[in-house]
Amino acid sequence: MKTLSDLRNENPMGKIALLRLDLNVPMQDGKITDETRIRKSLPTIKALCDMGMAVLILAHFGRPEGEVKSEFSLAPVAEYTAKLLKTEMPLLSALQRPDLSSGQVAMLENIRFHKGEEQNAPDFTAKLAEMGDVFVNDAFSAAHRAHASTAGLAHYLPAYAGLLMEEELNALHAVFAKPQPPVMAIVGGSKISTKLDLLSNLIEKTDILVLGGGMANTFLKAQGQDIGPSLCEDDMLDTARHITIKAKDMNCTLILPVDEQLHEGKIFDIGPKSVANICSAIDGVKTIIWNGPLGVFEMPPFDKGTVQVAQYVAAKTQSGALISVAGGGDTVSALNKANVTEQFTYISTAGGAFLEYMEGKVLPGVQALIDGETVKKSKTVG
Ligand code: ADP
Ligand code: MG
Repeated sequence: MKTLSDLRNENPMGKIALLRLDLNVPMQDGKITDETRIRKSLPTIKALCDMGMAVLILAHFGRPEGEVKSEFSLAPVAEYTAKLLKTEMPLLSALQRPDLSSGQVAMLENIRFHKGEEQNAPDFTAKLAEMGDVFVNDAFSAAHRAHASTAGLAHYLPAYAGLLMEEELNALHAVFAKPQPPVMAIVGGSKISTKLDLLSNLIEKTDILVLGGGMANTFLKAQGQDIGPSLCEDDMLDTARHITIKAKDMNCTLILPVDEQLHEGKIFDIGPKSVANICSAIDGVKTIIWNGPLGVFEMPPFDKGTVQVAQYVAAKTQSGALISVAGGGDTVSALNKANVTEQFTYISTAGGAFLEYMEGKVLPGVQALIDGETVKKSKTVG
């Protein structure tokens, strides 16, 4: 896989880098509530500018499903990024090669406004490729998607891993090439259908699987518990049952909430008994991977379960008893709120991608960077 040091050696002065970032930050009422992903993207933007390149940032926000929807505009993100970079940064809509000079940065409006992005459509990817000279992928957290801007472009342009992509791959490799058993995974959050399937693979790699947040509701309902109007995906009930059985077969202990905090009849957080259960299970493991908040942490007091477990993991990590890795846009935001990110072994910007990495899958976005080098279609710089 080529990196920015390779790019630097190829004398890219004056060329346009198409830089894929993951700027899908948590937002409430049009305000960015956690800037971690933006901050972590700055070093690569600056490094490319320092090489004398112009940078066109490609990024997505939310799920507009191939249509232009103003509520999914990257405008607030572009404004924020420009402020941190202390530079002007236009937000472009047209799929046209921009007129940018050395050191200039621009952002393309939400790439998912185009149907070809998620379809990884060749004509769309080719059009994107004409907008720049090289492709730099710094979106590790979107690398589990085989989309035009996360994978496809690597087959059309000389492709390089950005600094954050490199950092994430190195850090996760260091922890997970030989994870210290017993291993616990904690999975919560709300993206049930996209994450439920991968639990099935995850139980093969872990000794204890803790479920919380919206994810747990589907399991509770599958076991016959009345969860009222709580967040749940009914068409995933069979999958949840299947995973429960497989966990037993694989000797993976499943820990579900035993009490909960309700808001207007909906489960919004795990209760104190569940927190105690999880903490005592943590005492018996050496490695923890965590994606997904255990409750609606944005709305105190429903952040309590997440915060208490996070503080316990942080303290155990600091005492040397535990290796802890957490990831996910909202998870990182929750851990920032709990003030514990510095005390975890590693914090990844990725959620879904991080879980898939854990499953042992090669991520399409990473694979494309590896393959990109040997693909005949790729041009050389200059
Ligand atoms: P990440 O971004 O870390 O990968 P997700 O996007 O899957 O995590 O989930 C985060 C969201 O899950 C948060 O907005 C949180 O409010 C929500 N959530 C957690 N628990 C519940 C619950 N019990 N009911 C509804 N939403 C929940
Ligand atoms: Mg999220």
